[in-house]
Amino acid sequence: MRLTNRPNDFLVLRKRLVEHLILQGIIRTDRVRRAMLKVPRELFVTEEYRQYSYEDHPLPLPMGQTISAPHMCAIMCEALELKEGDRVLEVGTGSGYHAALCAEIVSPSENSRRSFVVTLEYFKELAKYAHENLKKTSYDDRVFVIACDGSSGAPTRIKFDKVLVTAAATRIPESLIEQLDEGGKMVIPVGGRLLQELVLVEREEGRVSQRSLGGCVFVRLRGRYGLKGEADG
Ligand code: SAH
Repeated sequence: MRLTNRPNDFLVLRKRLVEHLILQGIIRTDRVRRAMLKVPRELFVTEEYRQYSYEDHPLPLPMGQTISAPHMCAIMCEALELKEGDRVLEVGTGSGYHAALCAEIVSPSENSRRSFVVTLEYFKELAKYAHENLKKTSYDDRVFVIACDGSSGAPTRIKFDKVLVTAAATRIPESLIEQLDEGGKMVIPVGGRLLQELVLVEREEGRVSQRSLGGCVFVRLRGRYGLKGEADG
């Protein structure tokens, strides 16, 4: 793929990537297609890696974290069956890109502003970085970034229709299941440091079920209910 730093070229590359994800059967719905075409990933990637924004790979972020590959963002959005009006909780803000994609689906217009995305980030520096990115791209009216340990859920009693966890846990934190509303869905990578399974959790008629959607690799979930590392800083 040709590398660039010009806005119009980015649009061409974005369209090409979306076509590719449709052909691969990863983008399946019009809602996800529209959001992936609209949100400028290049404005969430650090300057140094901007030219690689539309390569289908994870890219480095400050604090040793990564922005997920576009195909993984699309897989998670499709699995959650996000729709206009959903209230979304994300654990692991990183760059803010995935939160912006979710916001573009659940709250695309003035009329749907009752829905929103709450996103939790462990590192204060990244929460600030993401907020700036979301402001630059005008998603800061629908996406609320909170710097906290999200492994024990959001510091609010609100229930969410959809929950996405973008860092790997050893098991599904009970507190996150509790924040899932009736009929809600959650996606979360569960496993060890090197490889995990993406698990879809569904709450229906008071029952909670789960099934695997396949293998994946995420950075570890830190904090109280996360995966233990050398230094939890
Ligand atoms: N969704 C992001 C990428 C996530 S990378 C994007 O679109 O760019 C995983 C993120 O989870 C990292 O930023 C990491 O700092 C964060 N994280 C790890 N443990 C966390 C925890 N316990 N609470 C909140 N965020 C956490």
